[in-house]
Amino acid sequence: LKIKMEALEREARMQRERDEMMEKKEIAEKTAKMKQDFLSTMSHEIRTPLNAVISISSMLKQSSNQADRELIDSLQFASDNLLNIINDILDFTKLDAGKVQLRMRPFEFSELMRRIVLTYEKMAVEKGLKPELHIDRNIWSWYEMDDTKLMQILGNLISNAIKYTDTGSVKLNIKKIDGDEYRDTLRFMVSDTGLGIPADYFGKLFDSFSQPESITTRKQGGTGLGLAIVKRLIELHQSEIFVKSELGKGSVFYFDLRLKRALPEQKDNIQTHN
Ligand code: ADP
Repeated sequence: LKIKMEALEREARMQRERDEMMEKKEIAEKTAKMKQDFLSTMSHEIRTPLNAVISISSMLKQSSNQADRELIDSLQFASDNLLNIINDILDFTKLDAGKVQLRMRPFEFSELMRRIVLTYEKMAVEKGLKPELHIDRNIWSWYEMDDTKLMQILGNLISNAIKYTDTGSVKLNIKKIDGDEYRDTLRFMVSDTGLGIPADYFGKLFDSFSQPESITTRKQGGTGLGLAIVKRLIELHQSEIFVKSELGKGSVFYFDLRLKRALPEQKDNIQTHN
């Protein structure tokens, strides 16, 4: 009888623990959902008046004198920055809630890569850097890709590389590491010779709203959302991101994408994509 009682008590205790765990999981899920809803509503609410500020200031600029124009430039810079933050929050909450899908279409590979790198040239030149692009020769010319998401992934990595590098180089290297009749696995590598990342921060690098405590990176501003978005966008492609870094020497972020080869499209069609 004693053994039976003990077994019953043990069973009841285990059931209580299971219930508590379920309850904790439900609370965590509800809290996460509340956080997503709050962030997304708040961002939408801020975006509308902010867009008005942006368009009114560009109208004002046309009819202003030199001194006022400089003030309006600062206003535009600040509001563009704020808009980027708001857009990051919206992108992140959508990704986190699983509301984002890939839209694959055929693109000329080197052309798309050149366009992405070129977007960050001005930012790099202002710091005395020049982003380099190296594409292996054995890569197919056209692939099915989601250009917007690839632009977001590589754009975030390249702009971070520029942001956290003062001298040396920022590179995007792409090579083919595997392939069959229809698909190739391409490795994308964004490397820099910048600050590097502290080893104790590696675990948190891809968490949302995270930045290391160092003054150097805090000075750069930012939300700490860029890499969290990058990680989720790469996961959406059924892949994962890796990083190698050494303090004071630089960092390499890399990931592999398995892309379907495509046939060249008519020029007319290409233009509708852009
Ligand atoms: P943000 O750049 O807005 O702070 P990210 O998520 O893009 O947010 O990056 C998080 C942090 O990781 C940055 O604040 C920075 O400290 C570090 N980091 C990211 N990329 C690099 C890099 N290429 N070199 C050095 N540190 C980096």
